[in-house]
Amino acid sequence: MRGLEARLCLAHYRVSAAVGLAEDAADQLAFAVEVARIDGYYDADHGVTDMPAFFRDEPMLQDAWKVGQMNYRAVMEMDDCWHCEHSGNPCPSHG
Ligand SMILES: [Zn+2]
Repeated sequence: MRGLEARLCLAHYRVSAAVGLAEDAADQLAFAVEVARIDGYYDADHGVTDMPAFFRDEPMLQDAWKVGQMNYRAVMEMDDCWHCEHSGNPCPSHG
């Protein structure tokens, strides 16, 4: 199910934080946000623009998912840029 892994990591973060496992909580929060970002990238790559249902009440996951969607669009834009393609580096517009 789309978004489930990130949502479970966020739940893990909250439980760890509640019982005082600060380091585990920080790791799980970072992981939840990264998984949500990757979900956004993957969804964009597959033409999916609707937010996963598991993110609807979680602004952090929503924001990360949107970043993933934007990252995908930026990569596609650079792929279509003649200057980026021929220099091997991002051009001034994309760098
Ligand atoms: Zn470019």
